[in-house]
Amino acid sequence: RPFAEIRDVAMRYGGVEGTLALRGTTMMVEKGEFIAVVGPSGCGKSTLMRLVTGLWPATEGSVIVAGREVDRPLSIAGMGFQNPTMLPWRTILQNVMLPLEVVEPHRRRLRAERAAYEAKARALLASVGLAGFEKRYPWQLSGGMQQRASLCRALIHDPQLLMLDEPFGALDIFTREDLWSVLQDVWIERRPTVILVTHDLREAVYLADRVLVMSSRPGRIIAEQVVPFGRPRR
Ligand code: ADP
Ligand code: ADP
Repeated sequence: RPFAEIRDVAMRYGGVEGTLALRGTTMMVEKGEFIAVVGPSGCGKSTLMRLVTGLWPATEGSVIVAGREVDRPLSIAGMGFQNPTMLPWRTILQNVMLPLEVVEPHRRRLRAERAAYEAKARALLASVGLAGFEKRYPWQLSGGMQQRASLCRALIHDPQLLMLDEPFGALDIFTREDLWSVLQDVWIERRPTVILVTHDLREAVYLADRVLVMSSRPGRIIAEQVVPFGRPRR
């Protein structure tokens, strides 16, 4: 069975009179697949992400991930957004390690456990080209570097599902293309299931195995295309 099953989902914000953001959306994602979701602004892409990760409950329909009905925020998901939202008073390394505190805030940890976690954060940072920047603060890094660090933070718990909402939208085209290869390497090496939301069709075709196209009013998936060629061979 598919890794993620989204069946006939509808989402209305703010009660019966509210905005119908999604209707009749069905989407199946296989384990390890890289999916891109494209569509105009306001068509419901972020809403779809919130439903799949359990940040919002769907008004109608069912969302099943890894065989379980999603009824609370998914702990197996790592998330990335257009705005990397790093805490400015913490170093890059501390920002990448943040999920450790968020997941079990009150548990005391052994020194060895913390050390292992830190080693993992450092290795991740090195793998995206940020070795040597661990002790810098977010505001000392360029937007592209912050986005690399934010990808590390999303990966720190080895998520089975990586949800990326316009992660490179704020970057210039050169930086964006650098980040494409970073993300591609991450995917080749770790094979998380990836759902990438983007406005950029070129980005979608470059990175994804399959592209879903959404339209608005109300948002739904109107087309689906397997990417047949054009990507580097793996
Ligand atoms: P983006 O498309 O860049 O992610 P949006 O402008 O769609 O940003 O939304 C920014 C934030 O405002 C989101 O968190 C979204 O939930 C919220 N938002 C968007 N539209 C509405 C709305 N009509 N009412 C209340 N909040 C909204
Ligand atoms: P996209 O990510 O494709 O830009 P969104 O999922 O953010 O689209 O928005 C889809 C629709 O839902 C839009 O009409 C938007 O205004 C509305 N919407 C999004 N978030 C909220 C919210 N928190 N409250 C009310 N309406 C919202």
